[in-house]
Amino acid sequence: MSDCLFCNIVTKNVPSKIVYEDETLIAIEDINPSAPVHILLIPKKHIASLNDTSVDDEVLLGHMQMVAGQIAKEQNIAVDGYRLVNNCGTLGGQTVMHLHYHLLGGREMLWPPG
Ligand code: AMP
Ligand code: ZN
Repeated sequence: MSDCLFCNIVTKNVPSKIVYEDETLIAIEDINPSAPVHILLIPKKHIASLNDTSVDDEVLLGHMQMVAGQIAKEQNIAVDGYRLVNNCGTLGGQTVMHLHYHLLGGREMLWPPG
């Protein structure tokens, strides 16, 4: 087993509630939701953070955003609006060092964020 939590979720060694999966990414329900809809989009490839991406990842990163928009429609949060977030590094609040986007919806979001 990998020592990366999200790699283990990708390989299903750690169970999760999967809402979407394709060859390059998986989307799961967050275990500790911060909103009525809180989904994590996780690339299958281990990338620690946005700091660790290269031009080779451009297609993957674009695909993740397209899928986020598609899942927002499926979760019925697209019309009212939602937030797509990446926490990067210590000051960004990243706790799991495997790149992921948070898709949050179902309530009004505050700005500026905490
Ligand atoms: P971040 O702070 O941006 O790194 O986000 C990590 C997210 O992963 C948090 O929202 C956690 O609630 C979530 N999380 C941690 N462990 C699990 C798990 N086993 N299954 C689903 N979500 C998780
Ligand atoms: Zn990983």
